[in-house]
Amino acid sequence: MITEEYRVEGKVAIVTGAGRGIGKAIALVLAEAGADIAVVDFRKALAEETAEEIRQLGRKALAIPTDVTQEDQVRRTVEQTLSQFGKIDILVNNAGISSGMRPVVFVPGIKFPGWELAGDEWDKPITLEWWHRVMDTNLTSVFLFAQAVGPHMLKQKKGKVVNISSNSAQLGSTYHSVYCASKAGLSTFTRCLASEWAPFNICVNAIGPGATKTEMMEEKLRDPLFRKVILDAIPKGRIAEPREIALLALYLASEASNFMTGETLYIDGGQLSHGAGSI
Ligand code: NAD
Repeated sequence: MITEEYRVEGKVAIVTGAGRGIGKAIALVLAEAGADIAVVDFRKALAEETAEEIRQLGRKALAIPTDVTQEDQVRRTVEQTLSQFGKIDILVNNAGISSGMRPVVFVPGIKFPGWELAGDEWDKPITLEWWHRVMDTNLTSVFLFAQAVGPHMLKQKKGKVVNISSNSAQLGSTYHSVYCASKAGLSTFTRCLASEWAPFNICVNAIGPGATKTEMMEEKLRDPLFRKVILDAIPKGRIAEPREIALLALYLASEASNFMTGETLYIDGGQLSHGAGSI
């Protein structure tokens, strides 16, 4: 039956950053489609809330407070999931942070294009500490989870990895270099891991959402100028709902996508395909 190929009945999924936003929507959609979920987030109370909502859907859930940038915590999370559920079929690396908008350098008297969108950060260059923080959260964490989950999935000879990148992986936005670089790195890591693991029946893909209605984005949209620029750049004239991203994640986590690997699928209301005018 065609609908069965789009379900994940009896599967076990780890979803990072599942306390709110896109990660929460993915965790709930996977649960609706039949999976049990390890809900990973460093905000413990939010992780517990998501886990409770999953239990109300009739699925099992385990909230695991974890900082995804810390190797020991990532390993412990994978061990806890295995001891609770006995296997891991799906890994969704969603946890990520926005970088804010900062220039690479600040030179008094010089303003780069789009400086007005950067608010009061336009004259504050990216620090090395901040560069590492964004890279550790958006990219290194995915490497850590691959190393921790890999031995299990490779032995099992079956698995689905879904990484949440961004359409920023394809954009060259000023004041946004560290975020764009972290997401471009994530899409490339996705391709490489897909090649390594393809002979073991493991699919590794990414999703590149455009602006999506979450706490992360709503904060930025309060600035009327930012809001106008972003909506003007999206042919569909609106931002995404988290569930719209989650339904694509379900496809990549399900048997329906068994021949797809190494891809980043963009879902951004036409922003990238429209080209000029994108921010
Ligand atoms: P969000 O801030 O609303 O939610 C992110 C969740 O990740 C939070 O619950 C947070 O506690 C958790 N998290 C952050 N750092 C963590 C860490 N070190 N360890 C554990 N948990 C951590 O963000 P969102 O908008 O839902 O974004 C989710 C993903 O989607 C991110 O990777 C983001 O880059 C990507 N994305 C978002 C948008 C958008 O417009 N919202 C667009 C493109 C891509």
